[in-house]
Order: sequence, then structure tokens, then C-alpha cells
Amino acid sequence: MKILLLEDNSTDADLTIIGLSQLIPDISIEHAVTLRQARSLLTANHSFDIAVLDVNLPDGNGLEILIEIRQQDLNFPVIMLTGSGDEETAVTALKSGAEDYIVKRDDYVSNLPESINQAITNFKENAFNKSEVIQVLYIEHHAADIDFTIRHLAQYAPYIHIDPVTTVDEALIKLNSENFKKYKLVLMDYRLPGMDALELIKTIRQKVKLKIPIILVTGQGNEELAVQALKLGANDYLTKSENYLFKLPSVIVNCYQHYELKKRHLAQVESESKYRLLADNSGDIIFTLDMDLNYTYISPAVKTMRGFTPEEAITHKIKEVLTPASYLKVTKLIGTIQSEKSLITGQECLINAVELEMYKKDKSTIWTEVKTSLIFDENKNAVGILGVTRDISERKAISDKLIQLSRAVEQSPTLVEITDIKGNIEYINPKFTETTGYSFKEVVGKNPRFLKSGYTTDKEYKNLWNTITSGGEWRGEFHNKRKDGTLYWEEALISSIKNSEGEITHYLALKSDITEKKKILNELIVAKEKAEESDRLKSAFLANMSHEIRTPMNGILGFSALLSEPELGKEEQQEYIKLIQVSGARMLNLISEIIDISKIESGMMEISLQEVNINEGMDFVFNLLKLDAKEKSIDITHNSNSFPDLYLITDSEKLYAVLTNLVKNAIKYTDKGSIEFGYNIKNSTVEFFVKDTGIGIPLDRQSAIFERFIQVDIANIAARHGAGLGLAIAKAFVKLLDGDIWLESQEGMGTTFYFTLPFNTKNKEPSLQTNTIKKIGKENATHINSKLKILITDDDTISRKLISKSVNEFAREIIEAKNGLEAVEKFKENSYFDLILMDVQMPIMNGYDAITEIRKLDKNIIIITQSAFGLTGDREKAISAGSNDYITKPIDKNELVLLLNKYFNPSKVN
Ligand code: ADP
Repeated sequence: MKILLLEDNSTDADLTIIGLSQLIPDISIEHAVTLRQARSLLTANHSFDIAVLDVNLPDGNGLEILIEIRQQDLNFPVIMLTGSGDEETAVTALKSGAEDYIVKRDDYVSNLPESINQAITNFKENAFNKSEVIQVLYIEHHAADIDFTIRHLAQYAPYIHIDPVTTVDEALIKLNSENFKKYKLVLMDYRLPGMDALELIKTIRQKVKLKIPIILVTGQGNEELAVQALKLGANDYLTKSENYLFKLPSVIVNCYQHYELKKRHLAQVESESKYRLLADNSGDIIFTLDMDLNYTYISPAVKTMRGFTPEEAITHKIKEVLTPASYLKVTKLIGTIQSEKSLITGQECLINAVELEMYKKDKSTIWTEVKTSLIFDENKNAVGILGVTRDISERKAISDKLIQLSRAVEQSPTLVEITDIKGNIEYINPKFTETTGYSFKEVVGKNPRFLKSGYTTDKEYKNLWNTITSGGEWRGEFHNKRKDGTLYWEEALISSIKNSEGEITHYLALKSDITEKKKILNELIVAKEKAEESDRLKSAFLANMSHEIRTPMNGILGFSALLSEPELGKEEQQEYIKLIQVSGARMLNLISEIIDISKIESGMMEISLQEVNINEGMDFVFNLLKLDAKEKSIDITHNSNSFPDLYLITDSEKLYAVLTNLVKNAIKYTDKGSIEFGYNIKNSTVEFFVKDTGIGIPLDRQSAIFERFIQVDIANIAARHGAGLGLAIAKAFVKLLDGDIWLESQEGMGTTFYFTLPFNTKNKEPSLQTNTIKKIGKENATHINSKLKILITDDDTISRKLISKSVNEFAREIIEAKNGLEAVEKFKENSYFDLILMDVQMPIMNGYDAITEIRKLDKNIIIITQSAFGLTGDREKAISAGSNDYITKPIDKNELVLLLNKYFNPSKVN
């Protein structure tokens, strides 16, 4: 202890120093004799435990030093030494902040140590917050005493408020009233009228049951009473000595603080035991760790949660407790906390809840939520960690499930929409945004009616609401509008979401965009209708075909029968033959149309490009059909003469076929007037036209007639000849030749068909090649050097006969076979043949097999295959089977002659 002693009287000083040194161990006293010296000691060293200052000094009053100490806020108590009878100074000293004063009497030194200790304790305790008011209930009978006390305290201890009462009854009323709590202390005089002070103490403690501190003021020499008062529960007493009022503040403060401390301590003990009780009985694990993360306490819940007893668990390191991933989480967390200043400065530091996975005794794991906070000592240093561990396995399982479910909804390819019971949107999934273009922000809180396109009727909406509000499911379709205004179809399933009480809380709409599906469905419907239409057309076609075939057949068979009548005149005979020929030609035309259309349909129609003289073609068609027109008294003209010779690289047969077909139709569907056909050159195309003044084609049929089997009026099939294939073939041919075909027509006025071909040649002289076929004709037939021995193979007798007749003029000998096998046999039987004409489709052995067999015997014999089908690939098949050439049935005599020349008179070819 370090004391500053200011004393000019050397005897007093010595006495004091010696006395104190003996009574207080470890004491060091710095002694000043004058104010000046005291000041310099204070400047040199501030850290005294106490100053003991004399008043009268050679260079002034000691109070000056007291005032300076207080002004400088030096943190130690001061005791003033005053002469006896100098209350005035004592009062001033206390007023100026002295802790105590001592009157210099004979034995004052011996009282000094106690006063010093008291002053130090008081000083520390009084360092309490003086802004805190101590409300005191003062029971005093004498008005003068009350007055004096109030004045004194107001002056020296303004933080003590005195509420005086003069009688016991009055006091009890106040203590029994509702605001008794405002009193922090009861101060009572020992002399009270009506009730003895001891009695009052007893009443307060035992009847009113107040623990409020009580100080008794006794008369001098009344220690006996004081002891009794203490026994009954008074906290302190004060003897009414001469200057007891000076002691009063410190007695009151001490008593009050002591009581408060005790109260706080009790509360602490109580709360600690409460916490302990809580910790021991909590379902959560409560634990403490030191700063090295060793457990210092762990509550019994650890047994139920993890299977370990608290004794076992307390020895574990947290690294063993947590799964590696969770441990890593914790170390990271601690790292961040340590780097935060809070730990160092000792601020309140609450670590947020973390989810950690822990091992159980049986090695399985549980998910826990751990909340921790730091524990600080009184110097605000973190000394440990307090934590609570809660088992959240179940919660986590549920939340994991929820996460899964919500992901599923988020990622669903179905539009999900949840509304409140008023129908206002609360949730939409990303697919909704993707389909409609509206973001969540744009639609939340809105009624989905903004998607309406007006397609769904109010009645249907009503029905929807009736269904879902009564808990049912509504299924239906909406034609909705996207944000960009485009429309889409959606299929919706709307139902209600109910809470556990069965009340509807939300509505859920699951929708899918079926625009594409609907489109496909519509296309399917169209395709189905088309298929049905085509079925209908096929039936009509078959009926038509039947008619088309039967008519000429009737003609052929009927007139053939008539021919055999013996009395038939020559003229009639010729007429019948003509009719038979016409019917045959019509049959053949029909058959070739059917073959063409099947070739087109199976993709087997090939084109053979060569240079074609267009004007020649025009003339050809004109010459071919002018008589037909003339027969109907229709004028027919063509414009080929208005152009110089034009050559196109195209397929001549197909061009002629198209042109012939169009002109034939024009003649067929025109009863009077004229037909004009020709071509014009337009940019890079040659545009052909066939114009008539016929019956015309109604607008609604104009595009249909290019379809197969379509006739303008299929109901009236007998009206004109035709199977409805001609234009379909013409269109396919034009397309194959890279052109277009269309028409312009007015019913009753006439029709003009147009078609184009690419203008892809320059004018030049026709090549020799182009004319070869045309030029070799009948006139060359007889030029074959020697007559031939021919084997004709065909299963059809009439065909065999016809072929025999055709080749008769070149034949030396003709042998016939009815099938492939017979042909092979006849070939073997006969020594030599010049030529074999071989049919393909025959019973027993087909033509290809027969050719193969014959080729085994003879490599040189000329074999020409003849087939009625004319399909692409027949030629190749025949050649690869071993035949030299190929010809289509019915055999065109010119073509046959050409082939014979090729093999038997080579010089005539080329
Ligand atoms: P068809 O063998 O029936 O003539 P097409 O395919 O050549 O078959 O023609 C289809 C239909 O188009 C005809 O049945 C006829 O109704 C109509 N048609 C074709 N050409 C003309 C035309 N020049 N004038 C009026 N109708 C025509």
C-alpha cells in the first residue's frame, strides 16, 4: 500500500509513519511537509492508494491539495486530519470529496489503519454510479431530525432521496402500497411513538415479508438494542453520535450495495441452478468447450442423441465427433471467427447455427444443428464456447425431400402454376416463363386471366370454378396468348390443395403446351380426310376403269364376232376392223397411262435427255390430232411456224406426251370453237400453252384436277372418256423436266393450260442421232441379208401369233415355245437358230432362267427379250440374264426392224 502523508508536525509525522508501518504490512509512505512538496510528489507519482492530509501547513491549507486531487480526477481516497472542534473544516473536506476526516486527538494514529481501510473500501464501492438514486423511507418522529437529515444529504449525498414519515402506521402503509418497490432502504429511528422500533423490524420482516435493507439509528450507549435489531433482521445500525450524519451516506450506500450484491448473487445462483436443471433435462445436447475445443461440459442428452454417456462424450475430440466434411466446415468457421476482431475485443459473439453431421456410438450418423456463443470472463476475454446441439435428422430428411420435390417442380417440363384461393398467382415454375414469356415478377399476385385469348367461354370458366371450388379436378384446354401476342394451346389439369383440416388453401394448375401436338393432330385429320378422299377416288377410279376397259373390250369382242359372220359385206368388214383398231388403241392408251402412273409413284420413271426440235414436235402433235378436231368441227392451230427452229435438251417422249395429252383434252372438252397451242420464250423458260374454247373448269376444281384419278365431275364418269390420270402424269412429267404446269379457265368460256420447260439449249443444227429412229422405217426392213430361223417364246397364243406375223417377212423358219422350259428343249432339239424372242413372265420356267440355260449352251445366239410391263430395270435384268436386247410389248414393228438391222444388217444402222 502506498500512502501520501502531508504533515508538517514532525512528531505527528513520525508517530504516524511508525504506527502505520507496524499496523499495515507492505506499506510505503511518501511524506511531504509542505503543499509544494506534496504537489511535486503527486506530479511524480499518481498511483497512491490513499492520501492523508493535514489541514494546517506552513505554506497553506491541506484542503487545497484535496481539491487538486479531485480536480485531477486522481483515483484514490483522501482522509483529512482536522483539529478538534473544527467541524467547519470537516464539513468542507467531505464536501470537497474527502472520503473521511480524523480529528487529531491523542490516540488518533491508532485509529488511522481502520479509517484508511474503510476509506479505501468505501472509495471503491462509492465508485458506484452516483447518478443512480437511492430512495430511502425515513421513519423519524422528530421533525427537526428529519429536516436536518434531508438538508445534510441534499448537500453531501444528493443521490440519496429521503421520503420521511413520522409514524409507524404511515410507514407500514407505504411499505404495503403498490409502489413499495421504489424504496431501496428503510432508515428508522429507535424512538418511535406507537410501536417500538424492534417491533417494527419484526413486522417488516415477518408480516410484510420485505427483504428491503433496514438501518436503525440508535442512541449512544444503546448497543444492546442495536444487537437485537440486527438479530431481527436489520442490516446495519448507526449511533446518533455528534457527527453521525457525515457517516450516514456511506452507511446507506454500503448497506444498499451489500444488499444488491447479495441479491444479485442469489439470483445468479438461482439462475445457474435453473440453467443446470435446464441443461440436464433438455432434449438438446448443451455443451461447453474451452478455447482449444476440448469439452468441459456435456449434458446428459448426449446419451439419447448419440448413444454416449456424458462421461464418455466429454473425453472426445470434436474431430472424432464430426464426419470429415462437417469437421472441415467447423474449422473453416472458427478460422473466420478468429480473424474477426470480436473475439479479441471480447464483444458479444454469437456464432450462427450450423448443420453438422455427427457419429453415433453405433457408427451411424445423425444430422444436427449446432448453435454456439462465446463465453467471456470479467475482463471480457473469450474463455470458452457454449453450445446447443439439436437432432435435426428428421427435419433434414423432410427438407431434403422438400428440396427434391421443389427441384422436380422447378425442372418439370410441365407448366406449374399455384394460386391462392382467389385465383391470384403465388408460384410459377420456369417452364411457365419459358412457354408464356412472362417472368415470375410480372405475374405474381395476378389472376391468370391475362393469358386469355377469348377462346374459352365464360360458361366453361364457370364450370371450371364450380369444379375446383367443390374440391374436384378440372381437365380441359385453353387457347392462350403469350407475352409476345402469339397464341398457343395448352392442356390443363386444375385441382385444389387442401390443408390438414381439409380446407382449400390453394389451387394447382398443371399445364402442357400442346400446340405442336394439336398441329400434328390436325395434319393427321387432314391426312385422314385425304386418305378417305383418295379411297373414294380409287373406288370411282375402279368403276371408271372398269367402264374404260369394258367399253373398248366390248367393241373389240363384239365387232370381232360380227366379222366372222359369213354374209358380211366388204364395207362393213372394213368399218368393223376400224372400230376394233380404235378400241384397241384406247385400251393401249389406258394401259400405258396406268403403267406411267405406277412408274411415277414408285419413283421408277426415268428421263432420257436429248436434243429435241420443238417445232417438229409441235407439227407432230398437230398432225396426230388435227383429224380428231376436224371430226368435231373444231378449228385447231399451232404457232410453231412463228419461231425459227428451237432445240431444247429435254425428254422428247415426255414432252410429246404432255402436249398430246393437253391437246387431246382440249379436243375432248371442247364442243365448238377453236383450239390453239404453241409456245413462247420467256426469260430462261419456254412456256407452252394449249388454249381451248371448251366447257372450262370451275375454280374450286382447278388445282384438284392435277391429282391422280380426279375428274372435274367424278359423279358423272360416263360423260367423257378418261380415267383422270392424264393431267397427273403430265404434271409429274413436267416436274421431272424441271418445269411448272398450271391453268387459267372460266367455266363455259374455255381453258388455257400452260407449262414451262427450262430454256437450256442454243439454236443449232439437229444432230444425226436425233433423227436416226425416225428415219429407219419400213423401207429399210427388207434389207436384211438372209432370212432367219426364229424361236418365239410366249405363253400367250395370241401374242405368239402376233409376233409370228410381225417377223414373218424376215423368217426362214419359225418355231414356237409356250414357256421357258419348252424353249430350252426346242433350242436343244433344233440344230441352229438365228434369233430367239423371249417373253419374261411365263409358267414353269420364266424367260430369265430360260435365257441363262440357253446361254450355257450357246454364247452367240441373238436373244431379244420382250416384256409387256415396260418397267425400268426390266432391260437391265434381261441384259444381265444374257439377252442381247430388249423390246416392249405390244411390239412396234419399226422398233423391231431397227433391232433386226442392228444385229443382222449392221451397216444399216448409223
Ligand atoms: P381424263 O382422262 O379424265 O381426261 P385428265 O387428268 O386428263 O383425265 O383430266 C382430268 C379432268 O380435268 C378431266 O376429267 C376434265 O374434267 C378436266 N379437264 C382436263 N382438261 C380440260 C379442258 N381442256 N377443259 C375442260 N376440262 C378439262
